[in-house]
Amino acid sequence: MTFSILGFMLVLTVIIVTAALSAMRRESRRARELALLLKEQNELLQLLTDGVKNTAVFLLDSDGRTANWNPGAQRLFGFAQDEITRRSVNCLFPQDDATAGRIESALRTSAADGRHEMNVWMLRKDGSSFHAHMAVVARRSPDRGLAGFAVVVRDMTEMKQAEELLKKLSLSVEQSADIVLITDRDGTVEYVNKAVEDVTGYTRDEVIARGLDLLRSEHGDPKLLGEMWNTVLSGFSFQAEVTIRKKNGEQTVLDEVVTPITDARGNVTHALVTASDVTPLKTMREKLTFLTSYDDLTGLPNRSVFVERLNRDRTRASKGTGTMAILTIDIDRFKYINEIYGLDAGNKMLKQVAESLSVSVSKDDTVARLGSDEFGIILHDIQKPSDVILFVKMIMKNVPQIIMSGGEEISVTLACGISLYPDDGKDANTLMKNADTALGKAKALGRNNYQFYTSDMNVGVTELVFMERRLVDALRNKEYTLTYQPYCYLSSGRIAGTEALLKWKNDEFGLVSPVKFIPMLEETGMIIDVGKWVLQTACAQIKAWDNGKMQLPVSVNLSFSQFRHEFLAETVESVIKEYAIDPRRLTLEVTESTFVKDQESAITILKRLKSIGVSISIDDFGTGYSSLSYLKRFPVDYVKIDQSFVKDVAADPDATSLVSAIINMAHSLSLRTIAEGVETEDQWKILRLLKCDMAQGYYFSRAVTAQEVERLMD
Ligand code: C2E
Ligand code: MG
Ligand code: MG
Repeated sequence: MTFSILGFMLVLTVIIVTAALSAMRRESRRARELALLLKEQNELLQLLTDGVKNTAVFLLDSDGRTANWNPGAQRLFGFAQDEITRRSVNCLFPQDDATAGRIESALRTSAADGRHEMNVWMLRKDGSSFHAHMAVVARRSPDRGLAGFAVVVRDMTEMKQAEELLKKLSLSVEQSADIVLITDRDGTVEYVNKAVEDVTGYTRDEVIARGLDLLRSEHGDPKLLGEMWNTVLSGFSFQAEVTIRKKNGEQTVLDEVVTPITDARGNVTHALVTASDVTPLKTMREKLTFLTSYDDLTGLPNRSVFVERLNRDRTRASKGTGTMAILTIDIDRFKYINEIYGLDAGNKMLKQVAESLSVSVSKDDTVARLGSDEFGIILHDIQKPSDVILFVKMIMKNVPQIIMSGGEEISVTLACGISLYPDDGKDANTLMKNADTALGKAKALGRNNYQFYTSDMNVGVTELVFMERRLVDALRNKEYTLTYQPYCYLSSGRIAGTEALLKWKNDEFGLVSPVKFIPMLEETGMIIDVGKWVLQTACAQIKAWDNGKMQLPVSVNLSFSQFRHEFLAETVESVIKEYAIDPRRLTLEVTESTFVKDQESAITILKRLKSIGVSISIDDFGTGYSSLSYLKRFPVDYVKIDQSFVKDVAADPDATSLVSAIINMAHSLSLRTIAEGVETEDQWKILRLLKCDMAQGYYFSRAVTAQEVERLMD
């Protein structure tokens, strides 16, 4: 029994010991496990705090002295653990009171509230500073007393920089003159910059959260917009010019680039629209094109556009059957109009001619201003040369015959040169050059003329160019002479006077007709000096004859620009004085056309000349205006009936009655008549019957030297 009790006790003891032992083992295993767990967690914490970039974790005691310092803190501040331990946290901040005060107050707040966060400048061991975010957490001891602080410092430099950059970026996007707009993938607007407001007139609020349709114009191309959106949703950019409608209803054109914005997985989440308003640019470009392609004054295309069109039309015409005509047109005596009446009158004339040419052509044709007073026309579908002639006659008729300037009438006549494609040239240059050559020829023929280009023309025109060059020296080289053609009384056959006719004798060209060189003198302005020489020579002759007791009047011709020259009267007066002649011996001949156009000023000039005492003759009467009614307004003395009427006076009854009418009318106005170009006895007789006063012509005498005149007088 005892044994069994003992045994039982033993067994019990064993059981108890075993149980105790196993409990102890379990306990120690748990303790080991706990320690392991703690170690793992510590390591994890260490790993986390040490591994986080730009972050320092350290502990402070309750007085703010450093107690613990992790590798992150070493990296950030540069202090090793033993360098910093037990140093005041103040050594990590710049030495200024304000900062010092803030740190202490941060520790105090943290002690009171449990934690405190702040942005602050901190110092590294090397003295450099950086912007940091600091979180201070109070550590409590088991009795809830303050055990110290855990501090987490994060270097904000990179973030600050990124923030600055972002700020800059958003500012520049905001202030960009270009439109920047962000939509989600459905096209709903999420962001617009200021330019959107400026360009469209809509406020931000009116656009945000709306679809882009708000801005789309009905003039836009819906297909293009669909294509644009599909492209962007497939991850590609799209660029196009898009017409939009502003809030005020106006249309404007944007040069738009739409770029997809994707997330990390490459899915398109948004679309970025950048656009610039190209309407002002387009307007400027159009203006620039206009300026470089069109003439400012007349609004017509300029020479380069003309050449361009000629080349283009040429290609087109060569495919068809029609011929093309190239016309170059020039205003007769334009240089003088500019000189005598001023630039305003010249400009007015150019504008009116331009206008009249423009309305004379059809839509396909071109009218351009090629140079100062030169115009160009391209005419299409010409079947025969007479089509061009009809056209030229039409424009010569349509162009205003007279232009008023400052109360004065200026006559307008044109000269026109014509070349035909393909006969006269295959390229624009040749065609224009040949039309110009023909124009030169037309001008040489006198006013209101046109000429077709012919291949032998170049020779003639070159001759004219050379002649003009030689003419420059003619006066100095004494190549001019005056010849005198007498005119006689029809009643007695006595010489009544002579007309001084200018001749040019040149080694190269021989004796040149005034019909050829007078227009050149006019064109170049040389007529003023040459005219003065004529006047002096004629007056010298009057004086010489006077000295020889031969009181013979002399007529001197004045051309248009001489008559309109501002010093004409002074010149006449001074030459008369210079040679001391009786002014009544001098007659000035002016053609009818010089009078008719600017009547008021012509009357003033004539009155001034008459006041000097000279006589005035109307030359070539009947060729210009052919109206007698205005004659009475002019203080003139003689009417010279043009030879074209005299030619037929004996054969054609119409011519006879016309000449008779002129004579009667002139007589009724107390004017004396001189018939020009009398070549036959019949003409002489009939003119005498018609009571014409005087006659001039080959029938009696050609233009001869002064000595021969003297012989004729004997
Ligand atoms: P105009 O003043 O009408 O001169 C008359 C022209 O007719 C002269 O031609 C003369 O030679 C020509 N003539 C005279 N009688 C007859 C005739 O019976 N039959 C024919 N067929 N012709 C006759 P010219 O010398 O060739 O002069 C031509 C024009 O040149 C003149 O026409 C005149 O307008 C101009 N001219 C001549 N000398 C001068 C001058 O010194 N100054 C200016 N400005 N013009 C001048
Ligand atoms: Mg004359
Ligand atoms: Mg005449």
